[in-house]
Amino acid sequence: MTFKELQLHKTILRAVAELGYDSPTSVQTKTIPVVLKGFDVISSAQTGTGKTAAFALPILQNLLKYQDSGKGKKAVRALIISPTRELAEQINQDFIKYGTYTNLRSTVVYGGTAIEPQIDRLKKGVDILIATPGRLLDLFKREKVKLNAIETLVLDEADLMLDMGFINDVNKIVKITNLQKQILLFSATMPQKVIDLTTSVLHQPITIKISATSSVSKTVEQLLYYVPKRKKMELCLHLLRSLTTKKADKSKNNILIFRRTKFGVDKLEQTLKRNGYQVVSFHGDKSQNIRQDALNKFKNGEVNILIATDVASRGIDIDDLDVVINFDLPNIPETYVHRIGRTGRAGKTGIAYSFCSRDEKSYVKNIQGLLNKALPVETEHPYPLEPKPDDKPKKRTGSKHKKGRKSTASKKKKKRWY
Ligand code: AMP
Repeated sequence: MTFKELQLHKTILRAVAELGYDSPTSVQTKTIPVVLKGFDVISSAQTGTGKTAAFALPILQNLLKYQDSGKGKKAVRALIISPTRELAEQINQDFIKYGTYTNLRSTVVYGGTAIEPQIDRLKKGVDILIATPGRLLDLFKREKVKLNAIETLVLDEADLMLDMGFINDVNKIVKITNLQKQILLFSATMPQKVIDLTTSVLHQPITIKISATSSVSKTVEQLLYYVPKRKKMELCLHLLRSLTTKKADKSKNNILIFRRTKFGVDKLEQTLKRNGYQVVSFHGDKSQNIRQDALNKFKNGEVNILIATDVASRGIDIDDLDVVINFDLPNIPETYVHRIGRTGRAGKTGIAYSFCSRDEKSYVKNIQGLLNKALPVETEHPYPLEPKPDDKPKKRTGSKHKKGRKSTASKKKKKRWY
């Protein structure tokens, strides 16, 4: 299948060709024709599968008829709701790239940053708006954005959006946008609350399933380390030492480390810095500027280790990763697939190390179930979870009377004393 066969307009084909996309990905082949025809869509496609282009290309094409609307006639006709600021920013960058040869305009609005410049950009007129829920509703309340001409509404990363507590905002947005609109919902997982949302707001949707396993590239090597929880930090340092000496050019060794909590991210960052590593970190408590700055430093190679939580990093397009380290294993198996899908992209090789402590063993079981294969285990490392047979604690050889040093009489006495 080629992009041309998907009946895309030549201006869009030109942009895609210049980006070096040879052929559409699976989610693009399945989604583009359906979106062009105006159907509602539910898709399980995850980040790294090319899902942004899967909705952005047909949206641009459907809006081409409005591209030359005169001054003051432009209206927001496509609205993309994203849970995180970085993802919103990235989606806008993609729209700009794909729409280079069109006269369609897009902009992005999100919280944590000044609202005035966003209002100014909206005033100039845009066709496509990418927004996080809170800031969009704020702008709507201030009457700085009209949402009555929306033709397509995209709810991206719906599961994450609901996890982050945006359910009421999402429902509000669906209500305040005009009734007649196409809705495209993307969600890596389908928990009950997402199913409820799809049944309440979508109209006869087409379901497009992109299996999780298909997004784990064959070029990603996976290795599991069983390790006691308290030894994870040491194992991490041990691994980093071997990684940075393996490659002559250290800057080329781009490493993303996942931790479950913000506290864990901060703690690891401090430890790695103390050990002389160039590190940035990324989680929801950090201001927008700091997050963007961290991301830029990592992307331009100033720093080669990024530590992040899932929520903060989800959907962020970080190319060229050599290594992913799952310092903590995720309890949702799809998240594992998500994480390691950030390496081994575009035919390059990548490696994903996962640390599993005793309490995380059930997560491994679920991940293996989803992948339908066992993860290779690295046994040769200094901090094994189960001691090797010859490391087993030796039997005590002291006096056989040692155990019951106190006589029953003395114990009884003690009892009486209380
Ligand atoms: P996404 O899943 O939208 O985050 O996309 C993941 C990455 O794949 C992005 O860097 C895109 O630029 C890239 N990409 C999207 N579609 C294609 C394609 N058909 N061929 C090659 N790369 C693509």
